[in-house]
Amino acid sequence: KAQTYYNGDANLNDLSGKTISVIGYGSQGHAHAQNLSDSRMNVVVGLRKESSSWNEAEEAGLTVMETSEAAKAGDILMVLIPDQHQADVYKKSIEPHLEAGNALMFAHGFNIHFGGITPPDDVDVFMVAPKGPGHLVRRVFTEGSGVPCLFAVHRDATGTAKKTALAYAKAIGGTRAGVLETTFREETETDLFGEQAVLCGGASELVKAGFEVLVEAGYQPEIAYFECLHELKLIVDLMYEGGIERMYYSVSDTAEYGGLSRGTRVIDHNTKKRMKMILEEVQSGFFADEWMKENAEGLPNHIRMRKKLGNHKIEQVGKELRSMMNWIPDNKQSRPEPEPA
Ligand code: NDP
Ligand code: MG
Ligand code: MG
Repeated sequence: KAQTYYNGDANLNDLSGKTISVIGYGSQGHAHAQNLSDSRMNVVVGLRKESSSWNEAEEAGLTVMETSEAAKAGDILMVLIPDQHQADVYKKSIEPHLEAGNALMFAHGFNIHFGGITPPDDVDVFMVAPKGPGHLVRRVFTEGSGVPCLFAVHRDATGTAKKTALAYAKAIGGTRAGVLETTFREETETDLFGEQAVLCGGASELVKAGFEVLVEAGYQPEIAYFECLHELKLIVDLMYEGGIERMYYSVSDTAEYGGLSRGTRVIDHNTKKRMKMILEEVQSGFFADEWMKENAEGLPNHIRMRKKLGNHKIEQVGKELRSMMNWIPDNKQSRPEPEPA
């Protein structure tokens, strides 16, 4: 069972007198920096000079410096830029400024686990990874609660790495919900597997396949969209709140019987076999190598696959249908003004 830590297990004083440099101001970066600042921590944001978020961070009342200046200023450096760019930025702007006893932090284990970054021996290396997107980490914090986090210590050079990690997790709100202890290997491999096989890859292909089957059988694409994509949120919300049993309790008996008896024909032992292969590619580093190579070559396959998805009928139909759904927050800005009477 995973060891879990709460507010009482962490002490903000373990961060007192330290400067925390948050490198990057994207999804995670803005949330960490603002939460730390609200927790009265001494925070600096590190960005490249041309960054479009420089002003935004300053407008939030934060001190912003160029990445290497922030690395110099910080005792604790939290790296919150995209995983595929971290190794370059680390080499160029962070490593030269690391001092003995500093802490290097991550929100995902990718670069440490797969060897993209090898920090010096006299630096603490640990992770605090919120299990949610940055906007949620920020919003839930302002509401007085927190998003659960994982934490892991890769190297404890100072003897205080765990205390520092828990204090950081507390300062961003994580210990209000619970902070689970893991390892860099476990976090990295399960995170990659989950997003590939289930959350991003598996779920979206399941939706697309169902949509295609209905449309190819002559049903209207709009109806297929509602049935296979739109309604998924309601189902997932029920699972999120009360597990799979709760979902089956809430749907009709017909839906429950149909799902229980047919679902295992869609996802069967062969699906599991292929999932295991995907896990093996993650564990062996094959996926990480492929992704780094793809970046080095300018993302030809990534761009091709993105474009192909954009041209899929489910995306075209979805755009039109969602413009009717004015309760979806992002739609409010993009909807056309009503025609004058
Ligand atoms: P984002 O893509 O939102 O990060 C964008 C930020 O990184 C911007 O400030 C951007 O600055 C900066 N940046 C991008 N490219 C570079 C570069 N080449 N050099 C310097 N700065 C750059 O990242 P996320 O917040 O999604 O991810 C950050 C970390 O958090 C990752 O390790 C990720 O795995 C982890 N994580 C992410 C979660 C999420 O839900 N998003 C959840 C949990 C962990 P600029 O304006 O200059 O481009
Ligand atoms: Mg991930
Ligand atoms: Mg139905």
